[in-house]
Amino acid sequence: MAGSRARFFYDEAYDISWKGHAFPCGKYRCLARILAAEESRRKVAPPVPAGREDLLLAHEASYLDRLEAMTADPDQGWFEFEAPCTPEVLDGFFAMTGGTIAAGRAAVARNRSGKPGFAVNLGGGFHHAFPFKGEGFCAVNDIAVMLRVLRKEGAIRRAAVLDLDVHQGNGTAVHFARDSWCFTCSIHQERNYPIKQRSDLDLGLPDGADNGPYLEALGKALAACMDFHPDLLCYVAGADPYENDRLGGLALDLAGLAERDRRVFDAFLGRGVPVVAVLAGGYAEREEEVVAIHLRMIREGLARDP
Ligand SMILES: [Zn+2]
Repeated sequence: MAGSRARFFYDEAYDISWKGHAFPCGKYRCLARILAAEESRRKVAPPVPAGREDLLLAHEASYLDRLEAMTADPDQGWFEFEAPCTPEVLDGFFAMTGGTIAAGRAAVARNRSGKPGFAVNLGGGFHHAFPFKGEGFCAVNDIAVMLRVLRKEGAIRRAAVLDLDVHQGNGTAVHFARDSWCFTCSIHQERNYPIKQRSDLDLGLPDGADNGPYLEALGKALAACMDFHPDLLCYVAGADPYENDRLGGLALDLAGLAERDRRVFDAFLGRGVPVVAVLAGGYAEREEEVVAIHLRMIREGLARDP
């Protein structure tokens, strides 16, 4: 089990082989390999997969039963969440949800200098999964499960979710619509998938918005999240607002994405609020670019976690 120094969570089970699918799972393994090689102090730890008890904190039992039943006819998954639902795929989602839980716990645990810190799941960010259904490559909402587990354990009382994936965090918005202890905020491309739900703060940007308008919206989002005084920020650090993304229509360049991450970490880690990051989307033609964007985000977080 991961000690308090573990900052990265990854397991081979994350690498769901969705052959020919747009969702690039190879980035998980690639990031784990790079971080294992360059970080000797902060090891990559394999998480315990989320169990049914954890999943039930966020998902309806009938939905979990339906997912299990679907593995007998995996093609049903295409109708549910636009990907096949094999036993391997479900195990991948349970493993990644376990990774998000472990990373959340690691972020709120005090580090050696007595400060709460930064931790990242090298996967996760399945923000389109609702309590009662899957959607958009997402079978289980690891963000919702993690925050409910941590709150049940008494590790947090209040939390904020800052979703900077190019697609709105519609499932997460619904998960927490009635919870006054969790503030949900999403900056996304307005005219893109999905059908929008109501977060506590939604900032929809026009097609082609680049660094300037994006960072302006980010300033508003950061102020609103900080005003909520969360005990933990869950940062949904999608790489798909990038100008070369195939599924996104915003136009941040690499410098803009780096500035985005810096501002998030300065606002929270800089003020002693722990941050747990999950990767979410990223669909640039060249997977190296997606990996590079995530890697830069992770290094920015680590730089503020002594
Ligand atoms: Zn996305």
